[in-house]
Amino acid sequence: MNDPMTAWQRLRTGNQNIDPATVAAELACGSTAAAVFRCADSAVPSHALFGQGEGAVLDVSTWGHVIDTAVLATLEFAVGHLQVPLIVVLGHHDCTAMRRALHAWERADLPDGATRTAVEQVLWSIVRRHAAADSVDDIAAAHAVETGLGLVQRSPVIAARVDARQCAIVCASIGARDGRLRTHATIGPVGEQSDVLAECV
Ligand SMILES: [Zn+2]
Repeated sequence: MNDPMTAWQRLRTGNQNIDPATVAAELACGSTAAAVFRCADSAVPSHALFGQGEGAVLDVSTWGHVIDTAVLATLEFAVGHLQVPLIVVLGHHDCTAMRRALHAWERADLPDGATRTAVEQVLWSIVRRHAAADSVDDIAAAHAVETGLGLVQRSPVIAARVDARQCAIVCASIGARDGRLRTHATIGPVGEQSDVLAECV
């Protein structure tokens, strides 16, 4: 049963049982290899998807990887202060945010509250990318690309690092069950060779 007390006890017990040597090893691991800006409802943690230790990836997540000022501040900290050379915008298969946006697109039915802001960002991605909007995964691809472009357009700090070729952005999504990465676009130098690749800037 999912109730607040059970959830907190599960986390507290997990914390009490951690191995201090594992924590020390993570702390000693050193620099952060990349920041991953991902959708919050994607089940597998970023470091596991990329086969890295937890400390190697700075994870930032919102539902539908929707950009707000907190996201920009965190990613500016990553590239500006931590000198992280790579941001991966990461969508995923069968995303609930993309599903809600597809529903809004087809039925002209926007949700209320803050959810509307998130869905509207996805709808703008469909429009700007001239996406077909006939499948959740096609919308996810369009939105990953627009999110990467949005980071550069809305953050002078990130844009300056990309212009200086000290940082790049990869716009990608994760497939159904195999966890494999699909790269939709890159912004800046990453040396990617792929026929699905479209360098946007
Ligand atoms: Zn999602």
